[in-house]
Amino acid sequence: MSTLRETFLDGLADMYDAEKQLIKALPKMLQAAENESLRAGFETHLSETESHISRLEEVFEIFGEKPKGKNCKAMKGLIEEGEELFDDHCRDAAIIVAAQKVEHYEIASYGSLKSWAKLLGKREAAGLLDQTLREEKATDLKLTQVAESVVNIEENQEEAEHFGGH
Ligand code: FE
Ligand code: FE
Repeated sequence: MSTLRETFLDGLADMYDAEKQLIKALPKMLQAAENESLRAGFETHLSETESHISRLEEVFEIFGEKPKGKNCKAMKGLIEEGEELFDDHCRDAAIIVAAQKVEHYEIASYGSLKSWAKLLGKREAAGLLDQTLREEKATDLKLTQVAESVVNIEENQEEAEHFGGH
């Protein structure tokens, strides 16, 4: 039977790989995005993602382990599926939903990791994981705000085109 510590370390390795995949995927999302605040958001989150990786390394260290990644199939699938949508006519909306699915995966993972670190008596590690969790939640919120403004812009454009045609 595996212990909570093993389950925790497994989850840590999963996120270590997931964040590294994101470091490669975020510049592609940034490149594909048109909306200025969406692009700015990706730029900010790219640098935040770098600190997510260093925080994971610190947490490994607190547990006396060497940082190691474990192929995160879920993140691979989320990124692949997202990239397939980038050619759509409503590209920014597609990029936003892909990014939000990624953030929700991270939020679920860091939420559990933080609780487990607390249960394992590692308050400092829990604090580090919480810092990352907050940044993922803030990013998700920003994406929702951009999603609403992008949709509004589209609607207004359609209305303008509609009235312009008469
Ligand atoms: Fe992250
Ligand atoms: Fe993230």
